Amino acid sequence: MGETSQTIVVAGGSLAGHTVVTELERHGFAGQIVWVRGREGTAPYSRPALSKELIQGKVTAETIRLPVPQPYGPRVRIMDGAVCAGLDPHADRVLVTQPDLSERWIDFDALFVCTGTQARVPEAFAGLPGVHSLRTLADAERIKDRLAVRPRTVVVGAGLVGSEMAASLRSCGLPVELIVQGQLPMEAVFGAELGRFCLERHHANGVTTRLGATVTALTAEGPVTLTYDDGESSTADMVVLGLGAVTSCDWLDGCGLDLSDGLGCDEALRTARPNILAAGDVANWRHPLFGHRMRVEHWSNASAQARHAVESWLAGQEGRQPPAFADVPYFWSDQYGLKYQMVGHARGHDEVHVEEAGTGGYPFVTYLRGGRIVAAAGVNAPRAVMRMKARIQADLAGDPTSEEVYAR
Ligand SMILES: Cc1cc2nc3c(=O)[nH]c(=O)nc-3n(C[C@H](O)[C@H](O)[C@H](O)COP(=O)(O)OP(=O)(O)OC[C@H]3O[C@@H](n4cnc5c(N)ncnc54)[C@H](O)[C@@H]3O)c2cc1C
Repeated sequence: MGETSQTIVVAGGSLAGHTVVTELERHGFAGQIVWVRGREGTAPYSRPALSKELIQGKVTAETIRLPVPQPYGPRVRIMDGAVCAGLDPHADRVLVTQPDLSERWIDFDALFVCTGTQARVPEAFAGLPGVHSLRTLADAERIKDRLAVRPRTVVVGAGLVGSEMAASLRSCGLPVELIVQGQLPMEAVFGAELGRFCLERHHANGVTTRLGATVTALTAEGPVTLTYDDGESSTADMVVLGLGAVTSCDWLDGCGLDLSDGLGCDEALRTARPNILAAGDVANWRHPLFGHRMRVEHWSNASAQARHAVESWLAGQEGRQPPAFADVPYFWSDQYGLKYQMVGHARGHDEVHVEEAGTGGYPFVTYLRGGRIVAAAGVNAPRAVMRMKARIQADLAGDPTSEEVYAR
């Protein structure tokens, strides 16, 4: 597949980049692959494990490496520690900064942008001693190194990473306070019903919470002092920030592509330049079933999109119409031995049904928009969640047998 003279540049050394490279190899791509893996300087690993098993000491950096189906062929050139620093889309070339800071332009026939996201850290909170964010293996190992002295820990932010970190650090026996900007953890993702359940689990496991609080200042002289928007303050030995993520797109500034939220793509994951495609956390595309643009920061989406982006590029090479990427989003989160799972996209839902499902009789939530199911979430209910994924896919695609799909 492909001409031996072709060069494909893959930007990003995590799941999406890894999957693009292994897919190109699997398809027998005959040209050269230049894989610019980014500053982390590590082989790809399971990022979700960082806030779960790695912090809890159940796995190590070595055991969370992503499996490589077969050794990379001689035509794969790996550039560890190197970053893409600029793109000239009209000349099809990318500027790469190498670890020794030297720069060079690399011409490409196709570019796969898989540069993902990085932790959102307000400038005033960056670099303070005792204050950590969590995105990379190095971040996780820095936090882990501090656990032996059982630091009093405040986790700021109660989204997926903040909530998981509170649970994992508590499981390690640390005293943990969780700062929730709204009234419920994970509410932006799950809504109030599962958010309430999540809050109860934190309390039942001994995490204290500060609800409706925004941290306005951090000072780190000895212990860290946190100041809140109501004027109150508290101290901690360690602060972990879970304030969400920002896309790693700054290297594309000024290149003329749509950067309004990540890298804008069409339904087939191609940018306005069809030989530049995106996959994973960075990709913003119009979902053909949900009918609006979205960007999804979920593990399984990164690999599915990467496979799809390769398929789209191949279709273009062979003169076929590239297929639309229509997977129903899925993610999971592990907290206190419970598995939360969600499928679909709940944005804009106007109706919610709550029932019980799975082992334990935990809440199972179905989210509807205009009478149609657009998302579902449950706790320890993998079969019900996965059946709902098939149902949503069939329902949104207008398949009249979608009820039967769920019943199967
Ligand atoms: C702590 C944590 C826990 C998570 N848990 C879950 C979970 O339980 N379930 C779930 O579904 N999802 C989870 N996620 C989200 C999931 O990890 C991401 O969706 C996934 O990692 C996205 O993969 P990606 O390859 O698109 O991007 P990323 O993993 O963000 O990787 C981007 C890569 O690009 C590199 N890079 C950045 N800029 C450049 C550049 N200019 N040039 C070259 N390379 C560059 C980076 O170094 C990195 O290697 C979690 C995320 C975190 C941080």
